[in-house]
Amino acid sequence: TAGGYDCDVAVIGGGPGGYSAAFRAADLGMQVVLIERYDALGGVCLNVGCIPSKTLLHVAAIKEEAEQLADHGVSFGAPQIDLDKLRQFKSAVVGRLTDGLKGMARMRKVEVLHGTASFASPHSLTVTQADGGRHKVSFANCIIAAGSSPVALPFLPDSPRIVNSTGALELPFTPARMLIIGGGIIGLEMATVYGALGAKIDIVEMLDGLLPGVDRDAVEIWRKRNAGRFGEVMLGTRVDKAVADADGVTVTTADGVTGERRYDLVLQSAGRRPNGASLGLEAAGLVADARGFIAVDRQMRTALPHILAIGDIVGNPMLAHKAVHEGHVAAEAAAGMKSSMDARIIPSVAYTDPEIAWVGVTEDGAKAEGRAVTVTKFPWAASGRAVANGAGYGVTKLVFDPATRRIIGGAIVGPNAGDMIGEICLAIEMGADAIDIGKTIHPHPTLGETIGMAAELFEGVCTDLP
Ligand code: FAD
Repeated sequence: TAGGYDCDVAVIGGGPGGYSAAFRAADLGMQVVLIERYDALGGVCLNVGCIPSKTLLHVAAIKEEAEQLADHGVSFGAPQIDLDKLRQFKSAVVGRLTDGLKGMARMRKVEVLHGTASFASPHSLTVTQADGGRHKVSFANCIIAAGSSPVALPFLPDSPRIVNSTGALELPFTPARMLIIGGGIIGLEMATVYGALGAKIDIVEMLDGLLPGVDRDAVEIWRKRNAGRFGEVMLGTRVDKAVADADGVTVTTADGVTGERRYDLVLQSAGRRPNGASLGLEAAGLVADARGFIAVDRQMRTALPHILAIGDIVGNPMLAHKAVHEGHVAAEAAAGMKSSMDARIIPSVAYTDPEIAWVGVTEDGAKAEGRAVTVTKFPWAASGRAVANGAGYGVTKLVFDPATRRIIGGAIVGPNAGDMIGEICLAIEMGADAIDIGKTIHPHPTLGETIGMAAELFEGVCTDLP
């Protein structure tokens, strides 16, 4: 081995979970080694996930808005899209943030090792560098934050015209016709980007609806607004076969919408799976479950209490903000603190056009469980700011427990929904009720005040209070 390291905490993986855990552990006075197999820190989220996708979505949103302005008296002419420049902008954003992480690691004296970590024993790792060099890292505690990778559908051939989210974010070219396999958040976000670039997009989804887990009335707003933008949205349909050649891919679908269609580019976004395979878990005496997830308790400890795991590798929802919070809990637990993961809710956001954000109990979910809820809905058509912004199609929806009037869920559809859902998250965590929210003075005219207005629709908030 090239050298050995002895540390209080070894963290495997430099994504949002891993760097958050490493930084918190260092702040708590522990000696930390952070191991990342790629050259940059930041994991999927910064390098090939949240950040590059939002960079492109921001550009897409401005382009769409600029086009709509023509109806209001300002037109900019046809957009000229320079893919090289767009790629450079995206890389610059990513580079700035990953460099920032490097600096933060340095400041905290976190030792960053680049290489692939694999357990050698319950208290040590072997780190293999790209050039074949090896290090041994001995640890008192280890935090596994190895994340997840896109699922590769077995019936899809290898072809540069069939990409996953990482390949799609590289913007290889603007396809005239594109198929997106999987109508979840990632698929619909990439549909939004490529749609804005000018691609004609079909979506195929095996389930009978897009964005599972969100109320159907919220998804319906997305569907109506996108009806003219996308080609076919094939629900309850699966891809049966795909044959790729130099110019494109011929895709056969079965069940719902059947037939053969030809595309220039196919994106597979049919889920992600945990990265357990490279970790040598058995050498530590750990096993992952059948799907590859590592089981943990509320302190993020695995079956071996000195080995903790966080982020995508411990299960759904696979979201960066969940990984960050778990990272903090794991670092604090490793430091001997009593911290545990007790979030009531974890919000989700599809940064599509329109944005859809949701959290906690949904109306459809409650109905399916036979749980009584009171739902209030404030249509943005009645919000001055939304109408002025051309977003009168949006909605803010709150879900309450009828017995206590407490808020237990919510959904927002429209621009900035993701930014606004935080208020609903805080209200749920604080045990706020309809009166707390409805009587809170929100600034006017804002999209955010629709949350207060939706709460005022709860029976009695405006009328029969003492
Ligand atoms: P990861 O970010 O996956 O990081 C794990 C790291 O571990 C990787 O860098 C990997 O190289 C490294 N690693 C793995 N095995 C080893 C090993 N043996 N040795 C050394 N290193 C190893 N989430 C959101 O919350 N909001 C969004 O808007 C959002 N958008 C997304 C868009 C796309 C296109 C994608 C793909 C994902 C998106 N996500 C989003 C999900 C988010 O990226 C993940 O939930 C998040 O990155 C998980 O963090 P993590 O720390 O668990 O793992």
